[in-house]
Amino acid sequence: MINSFIVFFAIVSGTNATSSESGPDSVVESAVNSVPAATDKKTPVMAKLAILIDDMGHSLKSNHALLNLPAELSFAFLPHATYSKALAGTATALNKDILMHAPMEAIYNLPLGPGGMTSQMTEQSFKATLRQNIEAIPNLIGVNNHMGSKLTAMQRQMRWTMEVVKERGLFFLDSKTSAKSVAWQQAKEAGIDCLKRDVFLDHKLTAAAINKQFDRALRIAKLQGHAVVIAHPHALTIKVLKKRLNTLSAQQVQLVSVSTLIAALKEDDAVATQVASRK
Ligand SMILES: [Zn+2]
Repeated sequence: MINSFIVFFAIVSGTNATSSESGPDSVVESAVNSVPAATDKKTPVMAKLAILIDDMGHSLKSNHALLNLPAELSFAFLPHATYSKALAGTATALNKDILMHAPMEAIYNLPLGPGGMTSQMTEQSFKATLRQNIEAIPNLIGVNNHMGSKLTAMQRQMRWTMEVVKERGLFFLDSKTSAKSVAWQQAKEAGIDCLKRDVFLDHKLTAAAINKQFDRALRIAKLQGHAVVIAHPHALTIKVLKKRLNTLSAQQVQLVSVSTLIAALKEDDAVATQVASRK
């Protein structure tokens, strides 16, 4: 992630790491290799915004409304909610990114519903529960945590989580429901693709608050090159999203799926590694 900052600022400042590889300009470029900034073409950098809709599977009406928005939204389904399987089928047909929204123990002992993962479980039952949760959602490509303010702060349980996520070839998105979460770090250490949430869009359910959080997400996206937003299938959220998503490109922000963002960040990391190795 730090590497992507380097690339982001390198591109903004006009340093292009890949342009001298080939093509008719390569002879000229190799002659001026030491002063690339003056000759390289600058491509405008669009900040990337990924929006994940959590808590999918309970309501057909609101969930369909979100799935049918003509936008690159991503969706996290609760493993055993009534409509999760059917809606994940719709999401597949619409080519949307699908995650399994793993219910994890919170500090305040909130009810987790079926598939709940807790600190009381042995490694065996913890991993078995996670595997069943994963198997309940068709065509998933990643996992993120539902609640989990207690569990995501626990090293051992997060290591178990990432072992299963890795064995299934998935990625992990840390919802960051606790400032003490070690999920992202454990995912990194396990060598799996991972992201962490920057902004919760609709914790406060007023149009003013949701719009304010949307503005915050745009600021973060422009500053760090990307932002990860988590939202929920509330009627008010849908209303605000419908309006705001149309204004993104005018603000040089591109809405991307979670998997597209992961791929872009990996590419940035690879370019940054190349730049570093040439120095
Ligand atoms: Zn949730």
